[in-house]
Amino acid sequence: MVKISAFPLFLLITFGSLQARITASEPEWGFWAHKRINRLAVYRLPPEMQFFYKKNIDFISENAVNPDRRRYAVLGEAERHFIDLDVYGESALDSLPLYWNQAREKIGEDSLRKHGIVPWYVQTAVFQLTEALREKNPAKILRISADLGHYIADANVPLHTTRNYNGQLTGQEGIHAFWESRIPEKYADDYEMWMGAANYLDSPARAIWGAVAQAHAACDSVLQIEKELSQDFKADRKFTYMERNKVMVRTYSDEFTAKYNQALDGQVERQMKASVQLVSDMWYTCWVNAGQPDLRPLANFKFSEAEKTKEAADQQTWLQRLLRIRPEADDGN
Ligand SMILES: [Zn+2]
Repeated sequence: MVKISAFPLFLLITFGSLQARITASEPEWGFWAHKRINRLAVYRLPPEMQFFYKKNIDFISENAVNPDRRRYAVLGEAERHFIDLDVYGESALDSLPLYWNQAREKIGEDSLRKHGIVPWYVQTAVFQLTEALREKNPAKILRISADLGHYIADANVPLHTTRNYNGQLTGQEGIHAFWESRIPEKYADDYEMWMGAANYLDSPARAIWGAVAQAHAACDSVLQIEKELSQDFKADRKFTYMERNKVMVRTYSDEFTAKYNQALDGQVERQMKASVQLVSDMWYTCWVNAGQPDLRPLANFKFSEAEKTKEAADQQTWLQRLLRIRPEADDGN
């Protein structure tokens, strides 16, 4: 967990060199929320799946953040986490093709990748997970389930569906991490996250686009409420400073956070719940479409020492790259 320490503004003004390292950005959904979403999704699975997933719940949860760790180190990773719907105009949700091949034909791959591909990439990961389940390949099932959970959760975040993803176009820099890290880290213990068994999805493509549409519809209030509330707050009451990996990060004050969360009227909780729901529905749907393989014989699976060593080395490389580019990033521990 991140240690939050208050840092008076007047001290910062005297620390010229330190000020240069102040940033208003952090990684998205927050590592904490991603881990929590994958973990909770396991509990909605039917017993035939749950035995295997529960045995590996720590892996599924800890590795929920791998896609974010990879995003500065692996080519093609960054665009899997978002879609800038507004670049496609008002009727983007009606005009954008449901499936990747049609989208590629209509818009062209370079342009698609530039503006984010999350609803299409989720479908690719769904296909991969279905195959892994069909093969009963435990390592693949676990890795792809963890990744898929991440992309689905990102698709449920309003600011992952707009090019104004960090309020940078409207003078609201820092709102991204505020909404998806600060608020859930502060309030999620009180969220009511029980929602019954996973449901089968007739069309994973329509389901992920539905999630993107719902997230996008929430964008206006995410930005608007922050703007309205800011009129009642002077900067020294609105912001505070906290240390993340020895870098001072500007963040919203407790008072502002409480007021904003109240004005959002449960929006973060609703989106987090929608994430858990869709993650487990997708995992379940892949399993049904793979012919409902019996996963109980896989329950004693363990990664080999060689795989563990490679995994640790990969994670180290991703992390070093991430911290070079975003020194304030949470290292996930
Ligand atoms: Zn992400």
